[in-house]
Amino acid sequence: MTSTPRSVIIVGGSLAGLMHGVYFKRHGSDVVILEQDPSELRSSHQAGIAFGPAVEEFLRKYDHTGVQSRSPPIATRLAYRKRKDIKRLSIVRHETSWGLLYRVLRANFDGLASDAVPNPPPVRDGDGRAQYLAGRRVTGLEHNRGDQVVSVRFVDQDGKEGSLTADLVIGADGGNSTVRTLLQAPTIRGYSGYVAWRGTVPEKDVSPETARYFADFSTLTLLGDTYFVCYPIPPDTPTFSPGTRLINWVWYWNLAESSSEMADILMDTAGRVHGTTVPAGLVRPEAWKRQLARTVSRVTAPLAELLSATPPSAVFVTKVNDALCEASPVFCDGKVLLVGDAFAHFRPHLTMATEQAAWHCLGLEKVRQGEMEMDQWAKEARVYAKRMHLASNLVGVFGVGRWWELLKTVCQYVVFMVRLNLRKG
Ligand SMILES: Cc1cc2nc3c(=O)[nH]c(=O)nc-3n(C[C@H](O)[C@H](O)[C@H](O)COP(=O)(O)OP(=O)(O)OC[C@H]3O[C@@H](n4cnc5c(N)ncnc54)[C@H](O)[C@@H]3O)c2cc1C
Repeated sequence: MTSTPRSVIIVGGSLAGLMHGVYFKRHGSDVVILEQDPSELRSSHQAGIAFGPAVEEFLRKYDHTGVQSRSPPIATRLAYRKRKDIKRLSIVRHETSWGLLYRVLRANFDGLASDAVPNPPPVRDGDGRAQYLAGRRVTGLEHNRGDQVVSVRFVDQDGKEGSLTADLVIGADGGNSTVRTLLQAPTIRGYSGYVAWRGTVPEKDVSPETARYFADFSTLTLLGDTYFVCYPIPPDTPTFSPGTRLINWVWYWNLAESSSEMADILMDTAGRVHGTTVPAGLVRPEAWKRQLARTVSRVTAPLAELLSATPPSAVFVTKVNDALCEASPVFCDGKVLLVGDAFAHFRPHLTMATEQAAWHCLGLEKVRQGEMEMDQWAKEARVYAKRMHLASNLVGVFGVGRWWELLKTVCQYVVFMVRLNLRKG
């Protein structure tokens, strides 16, 4: 792929899809994004996205909005049970929200104006055409050996079918990727054994002491068998000053997949049972109340206040799953690629998902510039995915006290790294 494809179809219009869309459009390709969600200005899940070096580099090169999209650096602090500050770690992170990053990327991709980016950057000489087609669910993919193009079939909201062809198709359709399934790519998938309860509270809705406690830190509160991560994030607009942000919390909780409690929490206010996530607004208040009552007396005063201040309508719960494609991300003679969560969907503990998406995109830039072969990109993407998969699992199982799994994952990680180093040597 050292030359730029004339036409690109991207399946999935979230962060990985948009980053690749911006990248190919800026290099002159005509890009169509097909996104199943019908809304244009999609709402955030209101949880934080960590900003790593690849996201930063991507935005430095391709973001022309001039909008600040990440927080100033925040440090990491450990709390243990009721002890508020047992250790400071040398991990410094920048945070943003999905909604803000989505708006910045949309402004760069197809000039969508929003409250976050009221004046999107104009199209530049050399840009390709960019179209974001919402409400299109991809259902089929066709490429015969020797074909110059790939066909993609989709269905719109009225059930009308359509198809498009392109020189390159990118599957950026997340952890349950349809493209990955259509390609029959071998994938390890599974439930981690724990769920994540999540929520946000405006800083102004907690006491000044609690707001100050959470203000400049990512705070990890360990209890031995469960753990919490809390940090400030902007809303869907570039607002980073204290008092205007949201305090985001994530609470990992062991729960057997086949338990009656799992069935109970996955049932929403209308009695519908969800497969993975009960979205905010649909969690049954009694399920949240029971969860809260279990732990609130065991945690620090600021965390207890934060959890109690979260309105049940702002709480959501999701099963923590992972999916790791075991094949190369390159298919159909290089005409179909898998990127982002569609290739490897990590558990959220290291907050590396968006970073991986940016890393995939910057790797393709190197291929285009002739600094790397496509095979090399694919190999490195597989190593990156496997390493992050194991490292995320390590942090997760440590946090929720699954000691046997921790031991097993440490061994897997060590074996993987030794093999990797032997191959390099
Ligand atoms: C609305 C939304 C909000 C999110 N908020 C957060 C957050 O606050 N914090 C966080 O850590 N992570 C969040 N995530 C997940 C986060 O974006 C990803 O884990 C990470 O950025 C990698 O993104 P991705 O684009 O690879 O996958 P995803 O973000 O999962 O995006 C996949 C996209 O593909 C679309 N799609 C799936 N199947 C099809 C199909 N057949 N046809 C067409 N489109 C399809 C989905 O609707 C989705 O937009 C959010 C994802 C979404 C979609």
